[in-house]
Amino acid sequence: MSAPRRHRDEGRSLGVFADRIEVRCPRCGQAGTVCADWRDRQWHARFVCAHCALEARDARCDWFGEVRVYGRRPCGYCGHQWLCIDRIRPSSSQARHVHECSSTHLGESLPLQCPVCERSSEVQVDAMRRRGNAGLDPHFGLPLRLIEPTRAGLLWAYNAQHLDELRRYIAADQRERRGVAHRSMVSRLPTWMKLARHRPLLLKSLDRLGALSDPQPRA
Ligand SMILES: [Zn+2]
Ligand SMILES: [Zn+2]
Repeated sequence: MSAPRRHRDEGRSLGVFADRIEVRCPRCGQAGTVCADWRDRQWHARFVCAHCALEARDARCDWFGEVRVYGRRPCGYCGHQWLCIDRIRPSSSQARHVHECSSTHLGESLPLQCPVCERSSEVQVDAMRRRGNAGLDPHFGLPLRLIEPTRAGLLWAYNAQHLDELRRYIAADQRERRGVAHRSMVSRLPTWMKLARHRPLLLKSLDRLGALSDPQPRA
């Protein structure tokens, strides 16, 4: 009998893997990489597509992922409280400028019909980045390249090192925690990724993603 494969949780957070993210350019569909450094208590990220030169800059709060647009006001005619707008705008191949952590004033109004008097009022809206649950580049909301839907759930990784850590965890028969905080990447994986019965399926998906990934070591 072979020795059990162990995985020891060293407490590495998802952010440890976020300095190099393999993405697909939202304009031309080609592979690209978001590079990021953690300095002065924040990320400094950049992306330039080598094929179409699409550029994302964090200095102007570029965001390509979904955006939540919301606002409310009383009806301008009958005073009915409240006319509420809360909509999701889908991800885009053009950058939108939406702040990272706070809401952004769009300086934009959308018409909304009052359910009581049926007249339309303009509602000023703000926007927020929407991250959702699916894997997404955390810096610019670009689509990940290492992503695969499986029968059990959506499997994704930022880069080859992240895939390696997932593989070591999923393949392990024994998983040890070292009294680390509950913030490590593996401790936060969804339950379906931790189930032994999904192991063969997930390891096959990880193989396919590994073949796609760019093995370039970290600079
Ligand atoms: Zn491109
Ligand atoms: Zn009204």
